[in-house]
Amino acid sequence: MSGSLSLVATPIGNLADITLRALDVLRAADLVVCEDTRHTRILLAHYGIDKPLMSLHQHNERQATLKILAELEKGKHIALVADAGTPGISDPGAYAVSAVRRAGFPITPIPGPNAAIAALSISGFTGPFHFVGFLPAKAKSRQAEIATLKAIPALLVFYEAPHRIKETLADLVAGLESVREIFIARELTKRFEECTRLPLTEAPRWLEADENRQRGEFVLIVSAPPDHKKARCDGERLLALLLEELPVSQAARIAAKFTGEAKHDLYAKALARKGG
Ligand code: SAM
Repeated sequence: MSGSLSLVATPIGNLADITLRALDVLRAADLVVCEDTRHTRILLAHYGIDKPLMSLHQHNERQATLKILAELEKGKHIALVADAGTPGISDPGAYAVSAVRRAGFPITPIPGPNAAIAALSISGFTGPFHFVGFLPAKAKSRQAEIATLKAIPALLVFYEAPHRIKETLADLVAGLESVREIFIARELTKRFEECTRLPLTEAPRWLEADENRQRGEFVLIVSAPPDHKKARCDGERLLALLLEELPVSQAARIAAKFTGEAKHDLYAKALARKGG
């Protein structure tokens, strides 16, 4: 019988978040390939499963893939899991999957938890999303990537670790339009789960307000960029209404806050309307 590889999603915190099929596949596997064997042993022990484990991480992915191929040749059934969530999503696995596919063995997904999808489902945001995962660790590269992401007409979905959350939020505020909103999901499915949706510019203050907020794991979802064409029309209509009641500078300031358009552009338009 041919060997097979299953990519099995596992919990992102709460050990109860595992599917019946995932447990069946883990019980039937000849070998479980995982990131950290200690971590996966805890999960398997919780469900009374005892299997040989083999570690695959970003530093040994090639070597581990050769071993996986050798086991598949012998007709073995292999389950590949990550430390948390869906393997291959901001986690190792893609290299092994490509090699196994090229070698012609069947590959099956066993779907389940994923932090990004869990956060999206409770964000209240709709529409297309662009999954970024982790931004670069170095400030310059991170800021450069945010600048390229700015033009994407979709929600932006990030993963972030506690030691970089402060810098990342500051860079998002500095690099993206202030009219955007952010949904912050911290410690999903865990004891200290906490989520909030607020204007992007308020995110650093939210983080600082409680030192516990800088702990744990984060998904950040930033709303899509403002529709500049629509904002221009809305801005001009709003400006016309405000100018009926207010002086030019005040009208321009309020219209700029509402639309995200530059205040000096709206000020010039307001002056032109007034014939000044
Ligand atoms: N493969 C995983 C998945 O399917 O979601 C993601 C693995 S990635 C190495 C780890 C990152 O996912 C964390 O740094 C965090 O950004 C996010 N994450 C994982 N578990 C989370 C949780 N319980 N709450 C919030 N974010 C989480």
